[in-house]
Amino acid sequence: MRVLLTLLTLIPALAFNSMLASRSTVRRMGVLSPILSAGGTFARPTSASKPNRFTSLLSKILPSRSNTCKSSSRLYSTAEAPTEIFRADYLQPANWVKSVSMSFDIYDGKTIVKSNLVVVANEQSKHDSRDLVLDGDGSSVVLKGVEIEGRELKEGIDYTLTPSQLIIHSTSFPNPQSFTLSTTVETVPEDNTQLSGFYKSGPMYCTQCEAEGFRRITYYPDRPDNMATFTEVKITADEEKYPILLSNGNLVSSEKKEGGRHEAVWEDPFPKPSYLFAVVVGDLGSIQDSYVTTSGRKVKLEIFSEKENVGKLDYAMESLKNSMKWDEDKFGLEYDLDIYNVVAVNDFNMGAMENKGLNVFNTAYVLADQKTATDGDFERVEGVIGHEYFHNWTGNRVTCRDWFQLTLKEGLTVFRDQSFSGDMGSNDVTRIENVKGLRGRQFAEDAGPMSHPIRPESYVAIDNFYTATVYSKGAEVIRMYDTILGKAGFRKGMDLYFERHDGSAATCDDFRSAMADANNADLDQFSRWYTQKGTPTVKYSSSLDADTFTLNLSQHTATAPENQPFHIPVEFGVIDSETGEQLVESHVLHFKEKTQSFTFKLSSTPKGSAVPSVMRGFSAPVKLVSEASPATQKSDLLTLAAYDTDGFNRWEAGQKLYTDAIFAELHGDELNLDGVYQAFEQTLTSSKISDDSIRAYGLMLPSESGLAEEMETIDPIGLHQARTAIKKKLARKFETGIAELYARLTQEMAGAEFEVNAKAIGKRRLRNTALDYVCANKDSDEEIVASARTAHKHYFDANCMTDQVAAMSILSNVHGVTEAEALRDEVLEKFYNAAEGDALVLNKWFTIQATSSKPDVLADVVKLTTHPEFTMSNPNRCRSLVGAFTANSAAFHAEDGSGYKFIGEKITVLDAMNPQIASRMVGCLIGFRRYDEGRAEKMKAELNKIRDIDGLSPDTKEIVDKALS
Ligand SMILES: [Zn+2]
Repeated sequence: MRVLLTLLTLIPALAFNSMLASRSTVRRMGVLSPILSAGGTFARPTSASKPNRFTSLLSKILPSRSNTCKSSSRLYSTAEAPTEIFRADYLQPANWVKSVSMSFDIYDGKTIVKSNLVVVANEQSKHDSRDLVLDGDGSSVVLKGVEIEGRELKEGIDYTLTPSQLIIHSTSFPNPQSFTLSTTVETVPEDNTQLSGFYKSGPMYCTQCEAEGFRRITYYPDRPDNMATFTEVKITADEEKYPILLSNGNLVSSEKKEGGRHEAVWEDPFPKPSYLFAVVVGDLGSIQDSYVTTSGRKVKLEIFSEKENVGKLDYAMESLKNSMKWDEDKFGLEYDLDIYNVVAVNDFNMGAMENKGLNVFNTAYVLADQKTATDGDFERVEGVIGHEYFHNWTGNRVTCRDWFQLTLKEGLTVFRDQSFSGDMGSNDVTRIENVKGLRGRQFAEDAGPMSHPIRPESYVAIDNFYTATVYSKGAEVIRMYDTILGKAGFRKGMDLYFERHDGSAATCDDFRSAMADANNADLDQFSRWYTQKGTPTVKYSSSLDADTFTLNLSQHTATAPENQPFHIPVEFGVIDSETGEQLVESHVLHFKEKTQSFTFKLSSTPKGSAVPSVMRGFSAPVKLVSEASPATQKSDLLTLAAYDTDGFNRWEAGQKLYTDAIFAELHGDELNLDGVYQAFEQTLTSSKISDDSIRAYGLMLPSESGLAEEMETIDPIGLHQARTAIKKKLARKFETGIAELYARLTQEMAGAEFEVNAKAIGKRRLRNTALDYVCANKDSDEEIVASARTAHKHYFDANCMTDQVAAMSILSNVHGVTEAEALRDEVLEKFYNAAEGDALVLNKWFTIQATSSKPDVLADVVKLTTHPEFTMSNPNRCRSLVGAFTANSAAFHAEDGSGYKFIGEKITVLDAMNPQIASRMVGCLIGFRRYDEGRAEKMKAELNKIRDIDGLSPDTKEIVDKALS
């Protein structure tokens, strides 16, 4: 499945930290936004605003916390202490379920699920007991009957029922080798606020089974190594309310039944683990298309959504067809069923889910059109549609033996979706975006209490390990195979992996063996990337003796000093600082010792100095540190920024110069910005840069979250101020050049037709970056008003959501100048009204306000939590306001602890409702050791309060315990 991406990439607002509010700290808030003001309530709920079914549930949970909500995880957690599960303890089960037939009889307020399981003994099992152990979450399913081949079983004699398991005693087996077990359970999807298992989202029913949701539907060996054929899934429901009845695989039959009901029967010919099971029932619209595979199979493609959103599905369909073609071209992998269905769902914990033949998506990753989606949204739709499609081979055909192997399917599939996005647009741009994401999130995770290897050794709640480490660092590890073995070698390894493991459940070691065996390569030391946690730092120095160049490397891991040296592929070249000539052509070094030196003969005598370009293309997930003198470092970075043939390192050199300047500003060091100005000017004016996205990313300063990772003790407010100050200096210095760039692009783009492709996206990205600088250079009231007018005009001239969001993000920071505030409020109100209740657009409206740099932003956020469109029960909406606020570093980390207190309260509410989302949210508090004592104490106090919650979910408890231990 696809987890939600970092807030930084979800929220374009965070890329724009306008200076409009720079003096705001000395002023108090002027007029309130009209939307926020009227009588202290909200002036205008839209007509389209639908009261959410869950808001009533929320009010039930809030007043009486002792009154246990049946559908929350409370029953489970109070009945049984959560246990820690270890990778080393893996054992095959005593029995396998080989085939399954099921029926779902759906009524309002009750669904009856019957399952027939064909059970066979597993001769290889090392279990002493032959009992059949089925998982089942007693807080979600109520057992109504158990039979073996017509004989009703008796509790206490034939079976034992616990809150989490149904154990069928082997003494009741009619034939120990094979038999059929039938169960009947009742479940109430309408009460399922966890959004795991079978639940109702608005007018539709749907499922989410990864990782352990199937046990919330029926009793089953809910573990990925049990692959079974689902021979029949029969769904019966009211025909008028629920005309669409979907499950995995192919439709076998459909017919009318008595009482206005109807029935559909589905069959999936491919054996699969239970986490890939899916059912969707609703009154949905759709678009259809088809795709013919290389071998001639015609596949019917259909994407479903609520009827009002059908007009926003075309881009997803286009992306799906591109994904299918790409996987055939790149890896020779074809689709294997006659139908491929995708459904968009409003209430969804994750990004999307790769259920066999029936993908279920968070609406945020399917719906996109010019009016409602930013370029970032379009890019994510393409990437996530690709991701779930690619899982059909890397995840479904070959699945994971156990959940410790999660990165086997996720790291590999993220690598595949990143490669796909790069091939569809620009590889350099995609690489820069991915590395920015990794540094902003995974590096922080690896430096905090949740640090774990990409293959963890233990867990309490597996849902807590759908992490940036497993996904993004996992993808980097796969990329290193590709770097070490080369494209052709990597393909050979993939082919062997499928040859050996198609149709089965595999391990990370199986993957590594396939890569090694196909290439006759030694990847033993490489296995440490799976067992050792922490981000390695690679330090380098170099020297030149006549025409012999020496590169010295050393590796260190601060978070895990016990680490043995990693096998680190270092892509490397040498450049002449005078001519830009390549003195050593790019190639990969195998860095395997704690310290290691490499020598090279230069191709010619350098005219200037010989400058090393290390870790090209970000060839390993490490922090790179030069040990040269500050002066040499700076001149080397200028050379790389100007001449490096590697697009990533050229960008990286500029970022390092900016970073040094921001830290000099922060520490009050003497500021010499010559190098920064030189790099910025080069990026602004160089005719060698043909890609506007590359130019835009070259002009942007590193993000606050990325910068924070470079600090021993994080000073969030100082960092925000220093970054803002450097940005302002750049805006002043290049005022004319930036204004010209903005004007030129505005003219070029005027009247142009809206397009979504790398070129058009690049132009918008560059123009909006220029706008951000244009609006950053302001001190006096007149200047603040003038730049607010520029952003205001940009908003009203915009022909797409990308430009509107860019302008509104800048305006949202306005504070303290009445005339500018009026412009801000006008745009916020206009945007809100134009949304007409569109959920994804309203999410942007909430996010932009939550990430404002206004000093009173928390007051706005608190007020917005009472807005009629706000609900904690919809994960997207909750993230758009509460989650977004935690990414507003300077406000969230306010010295008085008000941000922490706010989040603590929200997590308390959320944990009772949806533990998966609560445990993700608590991540913003667990890094307290990285902050000063005052902040750390306040963050810890909130964590202690959360730990004391009566009946805290195992999910949240695991994270909080790790943080406090
Ligand atoms: Zn995935």
